[in-house]
Amino acid sequence: MHFKFSQNDKNRILEAIQDAEKQTSGEIRVHADSKCSGDPIQTAISHFERLKMHETKDRNGVLIYIATRDRKLAIIGDQNINEKVSSDYWETTKNNLITSFKKGEYVNGITVAIADVGEKLKAHFPYLSDDTDELANDLSIGEGK
Ligand code: CA
Ligand code: CA
Repeated sequence: MHFKFSQNDKNRILEAIQDAEKQTSGEIRVHADSKCSGDPIQTAISHFERLKMHETKDRNGVLIYIATRDRKLAIIGDQNINEKVSSDYWETTKNNLITSFKKGEYVNGITVAIADVGEKLKAHFPYLSDDTDELANDLSIGEGK
């Protein structure tokens, strides 16, 4: 997997986040690095903190992390999500994403994962009429290390 996001890809991912967040008060973001020499979960955690994703009222942010060149992935949720969701769930979602990537379906895989996370969040953190977009919907892209 060596992949660069086109503007159209970015738009599709942002739309998927927007749609998912219509179902839930939870907040979803995607970060893609090229390289990830270490543990993807640890890297995802450091991005989560750097992006201030723990600053939601209900502690229900989710970050999908992808290292495109080094083919590593992690999906992590803030503490209140982790209390509700089994670790299997993250693993299953991640494995589905890996399957999509192996088929060359990068953007599709990501949008499906976003929709899936949205569905999961909905069960525990339903959308409320006074919902605010606490974390701007974003696909951020870095080099990694
Ligand atoms: Ca929200
Ligand atoms: Ca958001």
